[in-house]
Amino acid sequence: MSTTKKIALVTGGNKGLGLETSRQLAAEGVTVLLGARDLAKGEASAAPLKAEGLHVRAVKIDVDDRADHTAIAAFIEKEFGVLDILVNNAGIMVDGGALGTNTTLTVSEENTRKTFDTNFFAVVALTDALLPLLRKSEAGRIVNLSSILGSLTLHATKGSPIYEAKTFAYDTSKVALNSYTIHLAHALKDTKIKVNSAHPGWVKTDMGTDAAPMNVVDGSKTSVWLATLPEDGPTGGFFHMHDTLPW
Ligand code: NAP
Repeated sequence: MSTTKKIALVTGGNKGLGLETSRQLAAEGVTVLLGARDLAKGEASAAPLKAEGLHVRAVKIDVDDRADHTAIAAFIEKEFGVLDILVNNAGIMVDGGALGTNTTLTVSEENTRKTFDTNFFAVVALTDALLPLLRKSEAGRIVNLSSILGSLTLHATKGSPIYEAKTFAYDTSKVALNSYTIHLAHALKDTKIKVNSAHPGWVKTDMGTDAAPMNVVDGSKTSVWLATLPEDGPTGGFFHMHDTLPW
């Protein structure tokens, strides 16, 4: 797929995987709308990319705020009339990991709901708001940032790499997101839009922590690949790099 003049929106683009995904997409010739819930942070993150000559523009989008969904759809419609790539990257892990209170027996309902609001409901609502613009694309691509922690199969398999990593609220929100990927890909199967879930790897970011083995450059490759899939590429899949993960 030629990515020249494609328009992408990356949510949570001000740091971590979202920022590096924005950089890599822009380096492929895509015009990137770098989404940030704090526009000042987004602009600060976009500035060095712009200085490199990349077509990156910070836009305000708090994915939990439905008014921002309406506003970003109206902005993209007015400025470009089309959206080619949506990377649903923004995500949270509340009180993360087994060291926090996000465990199966201890996580609060409030934290589970908060996690689902951002990692699942916001993705569905934002994608709905942007679908009319994605339908206008010659090659619409939706990438949902999932996680290997959203694999039911690996969670249920004793000895799998994630068998002991039971961060309940986060994991179940990514399971729901994966189910959305399958359902949306089916609903759009007769269109030019492809929908896939990405596991970036365990990546050094604020969420992944310094203990993670992978850097953001490699960690962003799965999203960038899925965002720029050719016409004969997959839809309705769950991938890490080019490998399929079990649901
Ligand atoms: P990160 O460094 O914590 O960055 C998360 C990004 O999401 C930040 O830009 C943050 O904005 C944004 N965000 C959070 N809530 C938001 C909201 N309501 N509206 C808009 N933006 C919001 O995390 P990351 O590691 O880059 O993670 C990116 C995605 O990859 C997430 O979906 C995560 O679940 C997934 N993932 C990460 C790893 C890993 O090892 N790092 C592994 C598997 C999957 P603020 O700066 O304003 O907080």
